[in-house]
Amino acid sequence: MNELTWLGIIMIVAGSCGLGVLLLSGLLALWSWITLALTIRDTLEGEGRWALNLKAVQCPRCGLARPITQLPRSPRQIITGERRCRRCNQLMDRQGRALPD
Ligand SMILES: [Zn+2]
Repeated sequence: MNELTWLGIIMIVAGSCGLGVLLLSGLLALWSWITLALTIRDTLEGEGRWALNLKAVQCPRCGLARPITQLPRSPRQIITGERRCRRCNQLMDRQGRALPD
């Protein structure tokens, strides 16, 4: 194969990679908009998996205020926003509702 053939092959490969990157970034942007819409909807409704809670939360069992800056202790806690009470170890969601262990 001569140099022009190689150049053609490289351009085709680079072009298809570019298309893949374009599709991937499009999907990523779509996913971002969907999660943003879900977060706004659930936050306005005050409940749901995607809801943000900016109000103070108390433990449903012992009443201890949950610290705003409590670090998650597992990957599950990062995703779901669940935390355990520091005093009685009760599992609760972002809105401070008791969850079964
Ligand atoms: Zn508690």
